[in-house]
Amino acid sequence: MTALHRRSFIRHAARLAAAATLAPQLIPLARAAESCADPASEALRVSMNYVPVAADPAQSCLSCAFFAADGARPACGDCQIMSGPVDAAAHCDSWSPKA
Ligand code: SF4
Repeated sequence: MTALHRRSFIRHAARLAAAATLAPQLIPLARAAESCADPASEALRVSMNYVPVAADPAQSCLSCAFFAADGARPACGDCQIMSGPVDAAAHCDSWSPKA
């Protein structure tokens, strides 16, 4: 191994070590950023077969009568059934069309 390859290997190893150290702290933040849903409503969401992305986009939370959009976060909104934030693209068994 040449000195150049050794330095490159050490640099890459240091980056991997830094990434491995930070990953446990970053993963929950990434998950939080992925979903708008309130972790406190997980049991209710499971019982209502909540999915973060509706199989039929025409039946997403965005077009549900129980949904109120969040002006600050377009991907999120409040659901009357879940008593809190949900993903605008989600779906659950209580979906009802807006009147
Ligand atoms: S009732 Fe279900 S489909 Fe309707 S907004 Fe709430 S989570 Fe979305």
